[in-house]
Amino acid sequence: MTKFSDLNLNPKVLKAIDEAGYETPTPIQAGAIPAALEGRDVLGIAQTGTGKTASFVLPMITLLARGRARARMPRSLVLCPTRELAAQVAENFDTYTKHLKLTKALLIGGVSFKEQDMLIDRGVDVLIATPGRLLDHFERGKLLLTGVQIMVVDEADRMLDMGFIPDIERIFSLTPFTRQTLFFSATMAPEIERITNTFLSAPARVEVARQATTGENIKQGVLMFKGSRKDREPSEKRDALRALIDAEGDKCTNAIIFCNRKTDVDIVSKSLAKHGYDAAPIHGDLDQSQRTHTLDGFRAGTLRFLVASDVAARGLDVPAVSHVFNFDVPSHAEDYVHRIGRTGRAGRDGKAVMICIPRDEKNLADIERLVQKEIPRLADPRGTNAPAPQADTAEPKGEGESTGPKKRTRSRKPAKTDTTPDQKPAPDKAETAPQKQDQSGDQDKQNRNTRGGRSRSSGNRDSGNSPVGLGDHMPGFIAMSFEERTESETS
Ligand code: AMP
Repeated sequence: MTKFSDLNLNPKVLKAIDEAGYETPTPIQAGAIPAALEGRDVLGIAQTGTGKTASFVLPMITLLARGRARARMPRSLVLCPTRELAAQVAENFDTYTKHLKLTKALLIGGVSFKEQDMLIDRGVDVLIATPGRLLDHFERGKLLLTGVQIMVVDEADRMLDMGFIPDIERIFSLTPFTRQTLFFSATMAPEIERITNTFLSAPARVEVARQATTGENIKQGVLMFKGSRKDREPSEKRDALRALIDAEGDKCTNAIIFCNRKTDVDIVSKSLAKHGYDAAPIHGDLDQSQRTHTLDGFRAGTLRFLVASDVAARGLDVPAVSHVFNFDVPSHAEDYVHRIGRTGRAGRDGKAVMICIPRDEKNLADIERLVQKEIPRLADPRGTNAPAPQADTAEPKGEGESTGPKKRTRSRKPAKTDTTPDQKPAPDKAETAPQKQDQSGDQDKQNRNTRGGRSRSSGNRDSGNSPVGLGDHMPGFIAMSFEERTESETS
């Protein structure tokens, strides 16, 4: 077995590794470090959790230990798709360089240009940046990339998803032709293959097995779920999520809950919090200080549930996540691999649970094709797949569940009473409910629902589905329905 001491790393770097408690290099490190130290380009096919950050930082800082930075001309460049990932690389850099005198600057959005300019002006050995922010600095004439000797592209496939490839190509063209390139991607989409063929020169290709797909330490399951009615599906799906969380009991110490859309990240997070779950959202539209605060809390164990979009959670290193819940089936099969790779890290056991609605069955099939196995179907923890009549009664009582079922019960009854033709409040309610409900869908769906949903609900109102015998004596709880119902949209 390879040892760190066999890898020709700088003794001060070895000391820092030892202090970090690492005993042996991970496969990506054992493969990438020697090639990088020889000055070769490296194409690393590996995902987060495999130790890939150290696989480029360690050789980079060993190579940079000799030499000195010049003003405004960084000697190396690490490009990351998200601010969080860039910040994480910066932390790794601090850990491994603690006995070396190397300087770094972090160029990410949400941090003032002035501070970053000052660092660059002084000269930095390592510049860690997101592509857009780097180009902003470049265009303001504050930065020269002609001194870059080593360039790292991290999470290239995510860069592709985020539309950063043109930026990456531009940045490549601003750096010297003679630079060394270390390029990492979890998957090799054709576009990524093209970039590597264009910008890498005879790279050492190091591929590590996809930990998440092959790792027996991650138990997977999927709940095939269908709402009792289309317009109720989003809220019933949130019921199902809570039931799935509750079913895990104490084994679920903390979890990342993934949603496909930012709007759903907010809705699911709010809904969980309302039901007493310790949850907070993270996605790209939140301001940086809020994202950092949430993430710090999750890492420190003071926040139990992180509700996230793929982009925000990509590459986050949170070593002890017991569970991943996929509130939505990801539309790209690779994202499933990334998502569930958040749990079961460093040999721990993990569990990944997903909810699949009929519309997502095709995406589920794609995932199963990619991971080459069938994801076991889970029994509905609420005891049924037809939740309308039973969801409220069958729902397990987890912590903080006290208000949930009751409220939902009340909120549904008034919904039915909307069908009473001559009730005055009904039109208002009909306006309010679908609008709110729509927040939980994508834009197309929102448009569809805003049009169709309303007509559907008015259709129901006229459909003769109404409770009979109320006459003019509307019971008090019906009068409450507007408020209750509005609230229940995020329940
Ligand atoms: P990464 O894939 O770079 O996000 O790393 C995942 C986690 O593994 C991080 O918490 C690292 O600190 C940790 N790690 C990296 N290399 C090693 C190693 N050789 N031994 C033990 N842990 C490691």
